[in-house]
Amino acid sequence: MKSLAERLCRGDNISDVELISLINGKDEEELIHLSDKVRRSYYGDKVFIRGLIEISSYCKNDCLYCGIRASNKEASRYRLTAEEIIACVKKGAELGFSTFVLQGGEDPYFTDLRICKIVEKIKEAAPDAAVTLSLGEKSRNAYKMYFDAGACRYLLRHETADLEHYRKLHPDSMSLENRKRCLFDLKEIGYQVGSGFMVGSPYQTIENLLEDIKFLKELDPAMIGIGPFVPHKDTPFGEFSQGSVELTVRMIAILRLIFPKALIPATTALGTLSPDGREKGLMAGANVVMPNLSPVMVRKKYNLYDNKLATGAESAEGLRLLEDKIRNAGYVMSMERGDSLAV
Ligand code: SAM
Repeated sequence: MKSLAERLCRGDNISDVELISLINGKDEEELIHLSDKVRRSYYGDKVFIRGLIEISSYCKNDCLYCGIRASNKEASRYRLTAEEIIACVKKGAELGFSTFVLQGGEDPYFTDLRICKIVEKIKEAAPDAAVTLSLGEKSRNAYKMYFDAGACRYLLRHETADLEHYRKLHPDSMSLENRKRCLFDLKEIGYQVGSGFMVGSPYQTIENLLEDIKFLKELDPAMIGIGPFVPHKDTPFGEFSQGSVELTVRMIAILRLIFPKALIPATTALGTLSPDGREKGLMAGANVVMPNLSPVMVRKKYNLYDNKLATGAESAEGLRLLEDKIRNAGYVMSMERGDSLAV
């Protein structure tokens, strides 16, 4: 009789009840072992490095969990100029980065035209680099404009695939329907699309996690980003419990087995909650790390949640430290573009 982890790894259909027992910790050791094996069979021991540039902490949205939500009057706001963004890219290129991720709140200052110009300038400064955007929900036309300007990847977590749960995490002005529309538009345009969710967000149930997996199967993304929910004191969820590192790690392992070719980051949130959280994520099948390339002066201001890491191995300056950590976990840091095999 094969174990559940083994059956999931072989691509057998397993029931919801069985999947729930894996999520709850059944066969954990084998699950982690197999996820590492699967990741190595597709991507070897490489951990791809992305340079994260947090371009704006202004946001018109009001997601209840997020420290840069519009109604957080305590948040310090900043936005980078195009010149500052290009300077970050040049610095990253000198350090050997070949993927840049521009992430930010939904800041109306960054019009579609401005975003296109910035993407074009990045492609001039680093022609072979992959430009990833993570700038939230836009029209299909806008996504197409950014793609034509040279962006090739887009990260947009669906956050939760359950309608009722979505409503508890977001204001009425936002909708799960539009989030999904964005993701399918991005895919159709030709982006390598990343989606995902927080683990342990307020009111999340284990059935919600099943829904998340089902939605990801429908979307079949090239990248999957998950990380624990971390409360931010100046949000309505400031008093909620943080997500579990162990559950996040198990979810990474499960996702690796279901999506063997996906790129999966070991996220900053995982590293924030546990000193070896990122390493645990890597050993459970994650194969991407995104050190911070934003100007040091603004890093503390992109404060999505309390105690967010932005220095040491989390920063571009700490690249050698990060390389050591990755090596100690049993992998090799790779500065290649690291395109997804899932496209
Ligand atoms: N505006 C873009 C968007 O909506 O995708 C990108 C920026 S948004 C701040 C990036 C991600 O941060 C979100 O997808 C969310 O999952 C994560 N995030 C926000 N608040 C968080 C929290 N309190 N704990 C953990 N992750 C959080």
